[in-house]
Amino acid sequence: MSSNFPLNKEQLTDLVKKFPTPFYLYDEKAIRENMQKFTKAFSIFPVFREHFAVKACPNPYLLKVLAEEGCGADCSSLPELMLSEMAGIKGKHVIFTSNETPASEYQYAFDRGNIINLDDITHIEYLKKHLGKLPDTICFRYNPGPEKQGCNSIIGKPEEAKYGLTRQQIFEAYKICKEEGVQHFGLHTMVASNELNPAFFVDTAKLLFELCTEIKEKCGVRIEFVDLGGGLGIPYKPDQKAVDYDVVAQGIRKEYDRVVVPAGLDPLEIYWECGRPITGPYGWLVTTAIHQKHIYREYIAVDSCMADLMRPGMYGSYHEVTISGKENEPKTDVYDVVGSLCENCDKFAVQRELPKIDIGDFVIIHDAGAHGRAMGFNYNGKLRCGEILIRNDGSFKEIRRRETIDDLFATLDLNGVKDFN
Ligand SMILES: *Cc1c(COP(=O)(O)O)cnc(C)c1O
Repeated sequence: MSSNFPLNKEQLTDLVKKFPTPFYLYDEKAIRENMQKFTKAFSIFPVFREHFAVKACPNPYLLKVLAEEGCGADCSSLPELMLSEMAGIKGKHVIFTSNETPASEYQYAFDRGNIINLDDITHIEYLKKHLGKLPDTICFRYNPGPEKQGCNSIIGKPEEAKYGLTRQQIFEAYKICKEEGVQHFGLHTMVASNELNPAFFVDTAKLLFELCTEIKEKCGVRIEFVDLGGGLGIPYKPDQKAVDYDVVAQGIRKEYDRVVVPAGLDPLEIYWECGRPITGPYGWLVTTAIHQKHIYREYIAVDSCMADLMRPGMYGSYHEVTISGKENEPKTDVYDVVGSLCENCDKFAVQRELPKIDIGDFVIIHDAGAHGRAMGFNYNGKLRCGEILIRNDGSFKEIRRRETIDDLFATLDLNGVKDFN
């Protein structure tokens, strides 16, 4: 079940007078409470840190909230590194898990003492060549290939994924780095996306722990931290259940005691780089119904489109939809809830049972707080909506304004067009 929308119709009506729909709304209190639960579950490890995957919701205001709750940041590009820095997340609390990375971006992370997580064995040479030396801490991304079974469809089979080093390469990579004088080492993998089964993550941790002991034996390298990646799912559908953080943490702790402690690797720091479970359930896309049409199906059109939230159109993803003020009304009608893009996949919900919708109703799309606004685009000349945060005290803060037509045209030299023949 997705999180409850925090405003009743009266409160939302007031808010919309100041900030017209569409907009993203995030709930600071719920984000903090969830993060505290996550942290508490993993406090059974000597050292634990969640590095929020900035790509999921790249807003520095939210990053600041998360930093206050003890989060670091997981970045995949220069702008994400910069956003983390703006939020005061610094040094080793930033992990740069990028791939196919230009030298200038490595340089930026290196200069700030961020942890560089290398995606390939050839990147050791690449760093040496472009930075002049290797950082004193290095992490490698491991691709278990056929060794890890049961991966779900979004991320696909590891052996078909472009990421990471193979099993053979990983030993060689640590050996080379040790010879080159690197002092601190981490090991990373990410083999799931939106996975709800706790056992999957326990199994991933086991795989990494066992690999750490093998790396110690074969390379004489002590891994100081493992990064379990992201991929913890959220229950988008009403019949799905949220992952129980305690079950995941305790399952991993069991493997830790069984594998890590006897190998003399304790304390081994446990890192995550989750995005989705951290902000996903606590962000909503708030829209207004502006048209209704009846053809072969019944359509409700809202004042947003997949340029604001592309997951349903791109992956066919389910997002819960509720109508403000009608949460408890019977679902008497069946609608396709659509946006304004000239693409037929621009549907927030397909053949969905909902209460009868009237023009002007607020249509709320749930679980949009991660990989939502962030994946937006400007196709069809669509302007992306803004973002509002409900603070702990119930006040509202606009944390990103909506785009304007000037923003859209900013990369064009409009005077040049007049003189262009
Ligand atoms: C996308 C991504 C994440 C975050 O994934 P979620 O599903 O949002 O938790 C973490 N690490 C890497 C390397 C990623 O590509």
